[in-house]
Amino acid sequence: MSNQNKVAIITGARQGIGFGIALDLAQAGYDIVLSDIDASVEAAANTIQIEGIQAIGIAADVSNKVQVDNLITKTIEQFGRVDVLVNNAGIYPFKAFQDLEEADWDKVMDVNLKGIFLTSQAVSKVLPEGGRIIHISSIASLVGFQGLTHYCASKGGVNGFTRALALELASKNITVNSVAPGAIETPGAQMSEEAKQQTIPNIPLQRIGKPEDIAHMVTFLASDKASYITGQTFVVDGGWVLK
Ligand code: NAP
Repeated sequence: MSNQNKVAIITGARQGIGFGIALDLAQAGYDIVLSDIDASVEAAANTIQIEGIQAIGIAADVSNKVQVDNLITKTIEQFGRVDVLVNNAGIYPFKAFQDLEEADWDKVMDVNLKGIFLTSQAVSKVLPEGGRIIHISSIASLVGFQGLTHYCASKGGVNGFTRALALELASKNITVNSVAPGAIETPGAQMSEEAKQQTIPNIPLQRIGKPEDIAHMVTFLASDKASYITGQTFVVDGGWVLK
């Protein structure tokens, strides 16, 4: 079945990996809802100009249930359906463990973990058979990073949530998977030239990743070709976790 008339929602999509995923899914034929906490997501959606494809922007904070429910309601009003949810919105503020305040911990958990609970639950009520939920995890769910205890914990939670939700939704033939990126060049990652040169030796394939490296895996998992794959976390990191 072609992707024509199928609809994908991508959170945290005004820039970075989320925008890359939105563009790749649009190129694969999906109509797209780009969502982000920042209202400039509407302007970002307007930059996706592909014949026959509609791309709209809807502002929503994934950690706010009212705004998440509104995102799904507005998508259904606009398109009448939603087939794919990509939970990409996430934050990764570095802070040493000893300096971490309770509010820092709560904020990361609210966005990275509660956010995917709220969006997945809301969308699961309207996803059809063959629907897809895809989370953006991180290699920080598998290996430790200094200054990111709260983030590593939240992304480990994403992988566990993926496995359990895959079991719950399997009877509806909805698949749930995660993609775990390594170092990807995005506005959020704010990588200076010096930081890039320090990072590259950690990467067997000898380059920093691009949003499209992650997007290609997401587009595959969204496709009919991935219909027998569920509950898994796929590492896309140029080989970082091999060492
Ligand atoms: P990014 O450039 O910061 O883009 C993320 C977008 O999500 C931003 O527009 C951000 O808005 C938005 N956002 C933040 N909080 C939100 C909320 N509560 N609700 C909705 N949107 C929100 O980040 P990125 O590097 O592309 O990362 C995207 C995802 O990939 C994240 O889940 C991240 O953990 C994961 N990841 C990234 C890397 C990497 O190297 N870049 C590696 C592994 C995993 P603001 O800018 O206003 O905060």
